[in-house]
Amino acid sequence: MERTEITERAERILHDAASTLTTPTAGECLVCFVARQLDEFGCDGTHRFISHYRDSVAPRATALLSRLSAMGACCCDCEMFMNSYEPAARLWTPVQESVDSEEWGERVDFKPPDRMPPCGTTRRGSTKPCTNWERVFRPRYR
Ligand SMILES: [Zn+2]
Ligand SMILES: [Zn+2]
Repeated sequence: MERTEITERAERILHDAASTLTTPTAGECLVCFVARQLDEFGCDGTHRFISHYRDSVAPRATALLSRLSAMGACCCDCEMFMNSYEPAARLWTPVQESVDSEEWGERVDFKPPDRMPPCGTTRRGSTKPCTNWERVFRPRYR
């Protein structure tokens, strides 16, 4: 095989991989999709993954960005995970912290999952998250 042929083939494979990475899988919900993309590519300070999801899956959800902004994800994709959605409570694991002082006893903290389970899927065209996610509740909603 010619060297150039190998390079070309490698490039094509890379290109294919890139295009599957940035397309939501069948039924994948907005939040799982954006979480997956952020894991892979990081946040660039825009709503690029949210917009991409809307464009490819839910083009009629024109108010999506303003709705998410109202939920706290006003400036970029990763804010959605700080202000709007977090992994569902059942996915967090307890962490036993041994504290030296007797007074405090043992404190149990919970840590978020290292990897999210596969998306619970959502209806096509919907921008609702699957059951892997819960709204981050702020004091004013309590
Ligand atoms: Zn960000
Ligand atoms: Zn999901």
